[in-house]
Amino acid sequence: MKILVFSAHPDDADFGCGGTVAKKAAEGHEIHYVVATGGQKGKHGIDASSEQFALMREEEQRNSAAILGVKSVMFLKFVDGELENNDELRRWLVHAIREKKPDILMSMDPSAQKFDSVYRYHKDHRTIAMAVFDAGYPAAGNNNFYPETGEPWTPKEFWFFGGEPNHHEDTTSFINTKIMALLCHKSQVNPEEMEKWVRQWAEDTGKNAGMPYAEAFRILSFNR
Ligand SMILES: [Zn+2]
Repeated sequence: MKILVFSAHPDDADFGCGGTVAKKAAEGHEIHYVVATGGQKGKHGIDASSEQFALMREEEQRNSAAILGVKSVMFLKFVDGELENNDELRRWLVHAIREKKPDILMSMDPSAQKFDSVYRYHKDHRTIAMAVFDAGYPAAGNNNFYPETGEPWTPKEFWFFGGEPNHHEDTTSFINTKIMALLCHKSQVNPEEMEKWVRQWAEDTGKNAGMPYAEAFRILSFNR
């Protein structure tokens, strides 16, 4: 099975579904990442130009992806905070889908609109979630959309995280791998705080499904 994971910023996917990514990779599935922006506005006082900082964050993302067992990371190099669900972004997403031919598209959930968390509802997160939906259907599977990006490809399922789940993935054996991967995002995380809340979050998620640690998804099939 092939899984294509989309995120707005380097670190989003690792936080949102890193345990599941590590698990699926360990099971022999092929995982690829597409990261839309360089995350260059998340500098938190670090002395670097936007360009330098985006490159630092790309390296952090490559390192963490390697720990999780991700096979490739594609950086689309849009500007952090300025992502728009427009033709240009959707063309890139369709290009990635047609190139990698994934069974599963993994992303933040476009139906999650509660605005009960400041971090989660960053505009770029809302934008990538919606754009992945639009790229997945109908664009990727229909050759009237962006024919220059390759042969049409229709995935089997969306796996959305951050919304109302219908599936729990037991990530107990991969919580440490997820934390190790997240530690690569040195510019973004306070190691102790991060480990505490990532464990707590996975524990809270697992409670609903009788699992020690879990990640949750809303799986949506492309079958009508
Ligand atoms: Zn983010």
